[in-house]
Amino acid sequence: MEHRPSAKNVLHSGYHHPVLRTWQCPNTIVRPENLMFPIFIIDGDNDVQEITSMPGNYRYGVNKLKEALQPVVDDGLKSVLLFGVAQNLAKDGLATHADSSDNPVMRVIPKLREWFPDLLIACDVCLCAYTDHGHCGILGADGYLDNQASIERIARQAVNYAKAGAHIVAPSDMMDGRIGAIKEGLTKAGLGSRVSVLSYAAKFASVMYGPFRDAAKSAPGKGDRKGYQLPPGSAGLAARATVSLLVAGLHFAYHPVFTHGFCHSIFKRKKCQKNLFHISTVKI
Ligand SMILES: [Zn+2]
Repeated sequence: MEHRPSAKNVLHSGYHHPVLRTWQCPNTIVRPENLMFPIFIIDGDNDVQEITSMPGNYRYGVNKLKEALQPVVDDGLKSVLLFGVAQNLAKDGLATHADSSDNPVMRVIPKLREWFPDLLIACDVCLCAYTDHGHCGILGADGYLDNQASIERIARQAVNYAKAGAHIVAPSDMMDGRIGAIKEGLTKAGLGSRVSVLSYAAKFASVMYGPFRDAAKSAPGKGDRKGYQLPPGSAGLAARATVSLLVAGLHFAYHPVFTHGFCHSIFKRKKCQKNLFHISTVKI
């Protein structure tokens, strides 16, 4: 009799990389190992653009990234979280360029693997930077979010980033059922034990994300995200959302934490990117 573990019960992918193993241990101390550097990769290969909403932070084209990252890796950086930015690629209702061969994240992953073989590479997974309406999912003909179509498309995007070489896929869309769809997609692609899933567990509809939406050029053109991100202060919903993700097999949850003060002492740099993510591992 053949027995296969269901996608939600696959644990190996939560500790397949040395940095992930440090995340699984108690990590209440802020150290380079449990900070991620969010990087915005723009589709102009030779571009370096300062992000106006986050002065001192930049979008980098594929050809400019190695030079920008090298000093931080030399100082101890262990992981990055990649966000794609489409300024030239056409946006449409199906987010065609979210994982096309022209997508800057798809193109930079293999290069990062080659330049920095020990670096843990995570990719933000969401459609909003690639849809013409700027929402995180697929809209139906009635203009409302089509959750099923959204999670199928998001899972395909995640699997394609994994096939390109990402160690972690990190959905930030807040669609119902996304973790299960992604884990099943990874398992079907033969990557279930080799790619971790890191997610916002409870993402509130908040102006706090405004600077990141500007950085990723992903603000919605019409309406807002209150129909799928959680109402601020909804503690009960946040707990239910988190439990449902864990049951579906989520490996890690995170929240962006402003770490400017820490980064001077950790990376011993006079000038440093201001925003790093602190990873809180979920242990059950
Ligand atoms: Zn989004």
